[in-house]
Amino acid sequence: MTTKVGVIGLGNMGGGMAATLARNGFDVSGFDLSEAALEQVAAKGVKPVKDRAELIRSVDVLVLSLPKAEHVEAVCLGANGILELGHAGQIIIDTTTSTPVASRKVAAALAEKSIGFLDAPVSGGPAGAAAGSMTMVIGAEPGVLERAMPVLEAMSGNRVHVGGYGTGNVVKIANNLLAAAHLITTAEAVSLAAKAGVAPEKLIEGLNAGSGRSAASQVMFPTWVLNKAYNSGFTMGLMRKDVGLASALAGELDLDLPVASLVSQLWQSSRETLADGEDFNCIVMRTDAKLFGHEE
Ligand code: NAD
Repeated sequence: MTTKVGVIGLGNMGGGMAATLARNGFDVSGFDLSEAALEQVAAKGVKPVKDRAELIRSVDVLVLSLPKAEHVEAVCLGANGILELGHAGQIIIDTTTSTPVASRKVAAALAEKSIGFLDAPVSGGPAGAAAGSMTMVIGAEPGVLERAMPVLEAMSGNRVHVGGYGTGNVVKIANNLLAAAHLITTAEAVSLAAKAGVAPEKLIEGLNAGSGRSAASQVMFPTWVLNKAYNSGFTMGLMRKDVGLASALAGELDLDLPVASLVSQLWQSSRETLADGEDFNCIVMRTDAKLFGHEE
């Protein structure tokens, strides 16, 4: 029998994931608060559902792709949510970049009703979601992971099981802290080299052949910064959320992490010139507006 999958949150990531699952032969329905998002997936083999309760009741597996932990908690534990309307044996794959605390709370509550939960935050952007090539870092109990595997394999090219509930989000938060830092440090290196007479393209080529390379130099600068496209599909607002999650986690654990703290401060204070809706790569403009800005 064809597995019925519901996707809640059909934005830049969830829309692509839903289309990928439909292309891979799953019976896919989707729900979003936005009419436009529902219309977009309808053209890609996904059944748009306007009643979230109906979707929750009718599927075997639910994939969540929501902005923040608070949305995940509301959809899972709130009125007319998954705890109330879901059924034993159902599996929830939460791909939201959320918090370890929220993942553990939701997983424990759903387990009482024999509903399985995985925190499976993703990397790879909207292109990876649409191609089914994302990387997932997964926090889950082995039995739930095994049952979810056919859906996970269809959605992603690479899966790393990092531990029990919540650990997927620990790894994702640490990953995005580094990605946020590398964008700034690489922008500083490019700006420094430009002033010392080396073209940005040549500096990036040199870094990528050396030990200073990272996803910022290998992917972000060549794809979205040097050409000033700034159209990755991941926003300043979502990356600000992620560096904020890293700061909050360090605070909860009473850790003194000066570089992480500075990175978070630089991302939050850039709000004065870079709106939440801008592409996250635009953070490089705070280092050198002339070199990286749109007007150059
Ligand atoms: P997005 O803003 O494009 O999409 C979020 C969608 O959720 C929107 O369509 C919104 O209408 C919908 N939504 C919000 N609250 C809802 C609710 N209560 N019920 C149903 N739908 C609701 O965001 P995105 O870029 O797709 O990111 C989704 C998650 O994936 C975030 O946690 C983000 O940090 C993470 N992420 C994004 C990227 C990326 O490149 N965009 C990469 C990796 C991880």
